[in-house]
Amino acid sequence: MKLYNSLTKKIEQLQPINPPKVTMYTCGPTVYDYAHIGNFRTYILSDILQRSLTFLGYQVKAVMNITDVGHLVSDADEGEDKLEKGARREHKTAWEIAAKYTEIFKADAQKLNIQLPEILCKATDYINEQIELIKTLEQKGYTYKTSDGLYFNTSKFANYAQLAQLDAAGLKEGARVAKNPEKKQLTDFALWKFSPSPPAGGKSRDMEWDSPWGKGFPGWHVECSAMAMKHLGDTLDIHVGGVDLKPVHHTNEIAQSEAATGKPFVKYWVHGEFILADGKKMSKSKANFYNLADIEVKGFKPLSLRYLYLNAHYRTHANFTWPALMAAEKAYKKLLDYMAGLAKSRSALTQEHLNKIDGFSQQFRDLIADDLKMPEALALVWQVVKSNIPNQDKRDLLLDCDQVLGLNLAAGLMSEKAVVPSEVRQLVDERETARQQKDWFKSDQLRRKITQLGWQVEDTSAGPKLKANS
Ligand SMILES: [Zn+2]
Repeated sequence: MKLYNSLTKKIEQLQPINPPKVTMYTCGPTVYDYAHIGNFRTYILSDILQRSLTFLGYQVKAVMNITDVGHLVSDADEGEDKLEKGARREHKTAWEIAAKYTEIFKADAQKLNIQLPEILCKATDYINEQIELIKTLEQKGYTYKTSDGLYFNTSKFANYAQLAQLDAAGLKEGARVAKNPEKKQLTDFALWKFSPSPPAGGKSRDMEWDSPWGKGFPGWHVECSAMAMKHLGDTLDIHVGGVDLKPVHHTNEIAQSEAATGKPFVKYWVHGEFILADGKKMSKSKANFYNLADIEVKGFKPLSLRYLYLNAHYRTHANFTWPALMAAEKAYKKLLDYMAGLAKSRSALTQEHLNKIDGFSQQFRDLIADDLKMPEALALVWQVVKSNIPNQDKRDLLLDCDQVLGLNLAAGLMSEKAVVPSEVRQLVDERETARQQKDWFKSDQLRRKITQLGWQVEDTSAGPKLKANS
């Protein structure tokens, strides 16, 4: 498989450390609010990558974190913890907020047919691991203390910018955070933050822990390094995340992990590009900030969004608009209807059919193995639909592709089974056989019988399609 590696800015052949095993880590949601559709583009990318690797024969061990502490509103080390902010907004504790939005995230992921990694880990369950990692960094001389926390000294890590190499322009951008006069370099980041002193008679934070440096909570970046290395070892094969995490979060993950272990942290960095909404960056202050519930409330199927995302390569900006979603839903429903209408055909496979099936299978594998060319893979699916291969084999082929696409095409077949009586299905099959034998008289007779039973059969270039009489 070939993947674009943001670290080298090149498309590279995937060479896992221990093939056929592949280790993969994805930065997951901060559970203080609904994940928006841009976040879900990243999680769908991670899902597609995991499914593709499995489809191509790799054994994937995947981890995703749930950030339930320490992610501050500025995305750097200033401002309030997003979880504590969510708690104030909803008059709940930070723990309740985390539990609530973790459940919503899982439910949304399920609706989008995202197969979440087998290991889904919460930052608050790994406080000890984070403290241990920080202790190692302290012993190796990479830290210093300020009045509000323990910081990573990026000047001690010779290759900070060079090694990260992720996005030099973005790095400067990321460093331009509110100036903390106690920070030695703009790029230094918090490993451990102290709890602020509580207001008179009040409590400072819902979430805080004792540590060798004082009561407080871990910095945002440290959780990913600690949990990734705990589950996947010091060097991971693949790390996935949104492109917005590149300049600060991922750069810092690399610095603290490699400073601690002296080994490369990640072989391949895979970043999903932004989604625009109505042509603009999504923003809470604009009206273009959507989550999955906003889509469902307008009557769209969540999987139509997945279909829409498959139509753009993950390294391009995708533009979400309502008309685009409507078009995606129309195409997606057409595909489901098509599956439902695929009557079983008993026609024999010819050598030509076999060659076609092999050709389609190979093309599909080649496309997903080529840096996840999903728009082309989806176009191929429509070529399969329009091809003349027998229905039974067509179904199998489409269901095979769906292991990667995740469009739940089997639902189309299930609805057919549930709705179309077996008697009708049998007549459709008989009629299809008659047509193949060019017995038009019998075929017409069978059509009349089908109509009498309340169904209309329509002959398309892709085989017979059934519709209930209206
Ligand atoms: Zn992360």
